[in-house]
Amino acid sequence: MAANKKLLILSGDGIGPEVMDQVKRVIDWMAKSRSVSFDVSDGLIGGASIDVHGDPFTDETLSDAMAADAVLLGAVGGPQYESLARELRPERGLLGLRSELELFANLRPAILYPQLADASTLKPEIVAGLDIMIVRELTGGIYFGQPRGVRVLENGEKEGFNTLVYKESEINRIANVAFDIARKRNSKVCSVDKANVLECTELWRNTVTDLHKKNQDIELSHMYVDNAAMQLVRAPKQFDVMVTTNMFGDILSDTAAMLTGSIGMLPSASLNESGQGMYEPIHGSAPDIAGQNKCNPTAILLAFGMLLDHIDRYDVGHELRLAILSAIAEGKCTGDIGGTLGTREFTQEILDRLQGKF
Ligand code: NAD
Repeated sequence: MAANKKLLILSGDGIGPEVMDQVKRVIDWMAKSRSVSFDVSDGLIGGASIDVHGDPFTDETLSDAMAADAVLLGAVGGPQYESLARELRPERGLLGLRSELELFANLRPAILYPQLADASTLKPEIVAGLDIMIVRELTGGIYFGQPRGVRVLENGEKEGFNTLVYKESEINRIANVAFDIARKRNSKVCSVDKANVLECTELWRNTVTDLHKKNQDIELSHMYVDNAAMQLVRAPKQFDVMVTTNMFGDILSDTAAMLTGSIGMLPSASLNESGQGMYEPIHGSAPDIAGQNKCNPTAILLAFGMLLDHIDRYDVGHELRLAILSAIAEGKCTGDIGGTLGTREFTQEILDRLQGKF
């Protein structure tokens, strides 16, 4: 029998521990009923780690994360930490984890369940059934390029500067992730760049085109980022997988997120070259509703679903998604998406549906 995967749980702050408690219930149920077992351990990150150790990201958490096959993270941050020096703030924990684990591929699905089409700011017929995967390069590009800074010119005026830089190897590894994911979906990749203006993304386009020669089963298209932003709100269902740079992905994935209504619905996964991943909701710690049994745990449950897919248990991941969808379809959900259930009761609804097969 294959060894259990090691799962490190970092609940974090605010609603982080609340949503994580719900995943733990699903994990327990799956261990008993679907023979999917993990070796689960808990650790501290963000404000929770500051409270105990005075540090948002300790060496202990780092070594636990390095030793894990996957990390499930709740959320970090809160108003009580906002006056701390930048390097001591909770977000440092999150960024530290991403960079130490070299999580270069950020996968952001934007799915709009037809039942929630009215929750979107776009017309229901434009977004109903939307299912896009945005693959964002996460450890390179202009957010990390050197040189960077603000300098004073001879005339005394200040000048800010950053550097957009990508090596062919970085482009190839993220494009490979996009092609692999598309292969499990509708076999379409749209690579987004600004090749008409930026030499670096001209190299991006040429490199993706070259790599496509080895991925002929996938339909590849290219789009300038300004057009991609426009198309995302004009006709988003034309996209299957989009792959792009760190900064363009940052902007486009938030745009795509808003197509889908509630922030409490969206998961994300970040992977490194050895396939190790960190799975998290895209929402923050929501201090305004923390501790009130009000938060929607769907994003973290779907993040766990992505983890199940990644460890080749797509069958149970899919089952979990169907159970969530069937509950929401019948209005048995939390207040942010129009229901009346509390966080725990919504999770119970999902467990009951898993047990009774929806
Ligand atoms: P937020 O995502 O925490 O909350 C924005 C709004 O969405 C709030 O009204 C909140 O109640 C609501 N919301 C969020 N998640 C929800 C859920 N699961 N169910 C129902 N409603 C939900 O963003 P914010 O208010 O800008 O930030 C709060 C704190 O979270 C800050 O300290 C910020 O730095 C931190 N933050 C952390 C992460 C992360 O850990 N990945 C991401 C974003 C913000």
